Amino acid sequence: MIKRWLLLAMVGCALALSAAHAQQGGIVRIDPLSVAGQTATQTAGIFHERDFKADPTVPTVIGNGAWRLQPAGGLEQPLLLVYHPYSARVSVRLAPDAMPIVQTLFDRDLDPQYSRHALVFPLSGEGPVEIRVEGARYPLQVAVVPRGRHIANDLVQVRILQLAVGVLVGVSLTVLLFWAMLRERVYLLYSTSMALQMLFLLCSYGEAYAIPGLRSLATFGAPGIWFLATVSTMVSVLLLLDYADLRTRVPRLGRLMRWLGIYLPAVLLLLLVAPWPASKEWFPNAGNLLFLLTNLLAIAALALAWRGGGRHAGFILIAWVPLVFFSTARAVQLSLGIAIEPWLQYGLPLVLAFAAVVLALGLADRMLTFRRERDTAQEHAERDWLTGVMNRGGIEHRLDWAILNTRREQLPLSLLFLDLDDFKQINDRHGHAAGDNCLCAVVKAISAELHYGDHLGRFGGEEFVLGLPGADLDRAMAMAEHLRREIEAECRIVEGIEVALTVSIGVAECNSADTVASLIKRADKAMYVAKHGGRNRVVVQEAATG
Ligand code: GH3
Ligand code: MG
Ligand code: MG
Repeated sequence: MIKRWLLLAMVGCALALSAAHAQQGGIVRIDPLSVAGQTATQTAGIFHERDFKADPTVPTVIGNGAWRLQPAGGLEQPLLLVYHPYSARVSVRLAPDAMPIVQTLFDRDLDPQYSRHALVFPLSGEGPVEIRVEGARYPLQVAVVPRGRHIANDLVQVRILQLAVGVLVGVSLTVLLFWAMLRERVYLLYSTSMALQMLFLLCSYGEAYAIPGLRSLATFGAPGIWFLATVSTMVSVLLLLDYADLRTRVPRLGRLMRWLGIYLPAVLLLLLVAPWPASKEWFPNAGNLLFLLTNLLAIAALALAWRGGGRHAGFILIAWVPLVFFSTARAVQLSLGIAIEPWLQYGLPLVLAFAAVVLALGLADRMLTFRRERDTAQEHAERDWLTGVMNRGGIEHRLDWAILNTRREQLPLSLLFLDLDDFKQINDRHGHAAGDNCLCAVVKAISAELHYGDHLGRFGGEEFVLGLPGADLDRAMAMAEHLRREIEAECRIVEGIEVALTVSIGVAECNSADTVASLIKRADKAMYVAKHGGRNRVVVQEAATG
């Protein structure tokens, strides 16, 4: 089922991305300009198209430096677009004598008509424009497109991002509510991790800075995004450790993960917010390196835990591997300064949403496992290990429910108290093991006569209690007499030893004032009357006399 989801998510992603593609074109020529004695080629080190050929199939990229760009003519309301600017500061001079228009992703007043997946500069004429780029961490893709096409394309981008954000908000809110009720740390870690990832996503795509309430995050600029990325990685590592129980399943790798994924990033964060060192340019590469190593380690630890029987580690692997693939590809792209690809830019939010859903499914599975374990433990706690029927606690518990139910439905309920006759002698004569076999033989004989809903339990050493919901005193008495005879016949010889086992039975019907204890007491009393009457008989305790 999960595999099918994965496939669907990937196909959806591919379709959306192919729709969002086809950005290039609209540029006839682009040349690096000299900046203070240097050419842009030298400053950026990435622009190799000395003989620029306008090729609509290849994205046009520029790096840090100044460029002269000749837009194609004849486009309707042409817009100059600089895609995924991230940390870059872009200034555009539309005419040689015009004032430069400066934009960054973090500006409060970018034109609200467009999303922030690109910086938008409306072109006024058809002459060349001058673009200056500073602070870019990777090559920026530029294009000149008609306004209508950009808006259509922009909508696709926004929809993809909103879809991912919607899923993340929904799932992490739900899990947060679970945490509020269950108070289990893994739920809180999950919802915090997803909320932080979502915030990181919104900031690195710039959309956070257009949302009231989150807008002030723009003041921190790119270091704010680095901070968020690091904190969300740290919380994710805590989540993985808890979720897949890595501390106990793979203790050494778990410890290493804590160092690489929590302690070291915490030191980096301190250095990021501290006044020293003044320059923070080293941070993204150091952070990305730690992120990469932590992810590889996490996958190894999860794979080992999964092979060792950790079912939940399997869920994380399904969720985490695509996420790690995408985020690692993005980290590598950022570190090496490779031009961003649409599948990379928009695959990440979708994969994150997919991971959120799979992990939530895993949390539900985790809950189911715990419930099963609890039920099994409860079952064990309420069973008699020798005969396999309920023990005293178990039968009292069941009878409690049975009394409540029959009272509500106005049905009778009767109880049989069975005590084996002269059992001590059997033990003394044939040994304790033979005595044990007798106990099992009696349970077998009684069980063969039981109906659905009857409750049999071992009350003490050689004493049994049988609750019969729906049976009045006459029916219970008939059942008791039947059982007495059955035991006498079936348990004369047990495992080849002639034991001539018999049983004395006291019968009582539940009255409106009875509790489990008082009902058992009355049946027990009747059983004693049977003992005194000569054993191997049934005595009824009339409800009225109780
Ligand atoms: P009565 O007919 O009056 O009930 O006589 P009794 O011997 O059955 O009753 P008594 O209470 O004197 O002895 C009960 C015996 O049951 C004593 C104990 O050794 C035996 N017994 C209790 N639990 C077990 C058990 O788990 N296995 C075996 N083999 N014997 C048990
Ligand atoms: Mg007894
Ligand atoms: Mg006895």
